[in-house]
Amino acid sequence: MIDSNNPTETWNILQKDQYVENLNVPQGSSKEGNIRVVCISDTHMKHEKLQIPDGDILVHTGDFSSLGRWDDIKRFVDWFASQPHQHKIVIAGNHDLTLELPYYDTVVGRFHRGIREPAEQIIEYISTHSGFHYLLDEGVECEGLYVYGSPWQPYFYNWAFNLQRGKQCMEKWKAIPERTDILLTHGPPLGHGDLCASGVRAGCVDLLIDIQNRIRPKLHVFGHIHEGAGITTDGQTVFVNAASCDLSYRVSHPVLYWDL
Ligand code: MN
Ligand code: MN
Repeated sequence: MIDSNNPTETWNILQKDQYVENLNVPQGSSKEGNIRVVCISDTHMKHEKLQIPDGDILVHTGDFSSLGRWDDIKRFVDWFASQPHQHKIVIAGNHDLTLELPYYDTVVGRFHRGIREPAEQIIEYISTHSGFHYLLDEGVECEGLYVYGSPWQPYFYNWAFNLQRGKQCMEKWKAIPERTDILLTHGPPLGHGDLCASGVRAGCVDLLIDIQNRIRPKLHVFGHIHEGAGITTDGQTVFVNAASCDLSYRVSHPVLYWDL
């Protein structure tokens, strides 16, 4: 049966009724009238090494820093804002620790040896920057498309933006409007880009259900599971695991993009 707390087993059961096809990036340049969405994620301060293709919208789905330090976030933010794409949108990931208050204050000892980073200043800097949109459970209209972003993910070793699987995750996904064309989350849904090297599926069961039955976005971009990078579809939504770094935190995946 469907069990929010057991994605691997749930996928074993659901799989026979699920269509999954691997896709490649579109050939050639974007056709007239199409919107090219360039997808990066999990750059972990290696963003300067990326070869980023042209496109209309550049999205980053979190884990741009290593541990959410001010120097790192500022360096990333300034670089991101300077990219030539007309629209740029970013969400946080579990590594971007200082962007979740008051959670950050509970882990200053563990991650930053008790020396507190200026979290309020960091949040202010990223959320009011004029060069891009930082989305925290909110949406923005771009080129006639509604883009909604949320950093939350199922609980992961007490890092930032964690929620318990089941009810807590469901509540967050419920806030995603049905008009969403492009959905950005840090973590994957079940069954798409969520297979860990260990063989475990880390995706969110409730996110897959809400995407397939209610939200039906054209495109869902995420990262978090570095080894799951790639593009798939269920026949309705195109799923991009845009993780730029591999398991060793090296930039070894080509930058993915999709045309809408
Ligand atoms: Mn990551
Ligand atoms: Mn992550």
